[in-house]
Amino acid sequence: MEKKRPQRSGAPVSEEKVNSAIAGLRASIPVAGYRELSLKIHGSVCARCGREFSGKNLRLLTVHHKDNNHLNNPPDGSNWENLCVYCHDDEHSRELLGDYEQGMSKPAREEPKKAAKMGSMEDLLRAALSKKG
Ligand SMILES: [Zn+2]
Ligand SMILES: [Zn+2]
Repeated sequence: MEKKRPQRSGAPVSEEKVNSAIAGLRASIPVAGYRELSLKIHGSVCARCGREFSGKNLRLLTVHHKDNNHLNNPPDGSNWENLCVYCHDDEHSRELLGDYEQGMSKPAREEPKKAAKMGSMEDLLRAALSKKG
């Protein structure tokens, strides 16, 4: 008897490979793990506005990393701060604004110097050309 190979109608990508890849990602980034631990340690209260969260609203309470390193998760909770999404957003928008201001001030100061140098170079070139010509 000739054995018939089981025909797969789906895509050639095996589901097992995808699942193991996802499992690997989850293992390296224990997002749900540290959030629950932080809520246990610091309580279900926003550290900034003091609002309490429970039930469905609990998902609005997020964990902020004080040193902004999401991989730094000490089990004593010293790097975590429970912030509601509104306060968390505010916290990070201030940081971004700070970076933006710092980034803006540097080139603005350097530009006039560059322009002056360019001008003097042009003058030198013209002087050299006028001497030759
Ligand atoms: Zn808040
Ligand atoms: Zn944060």
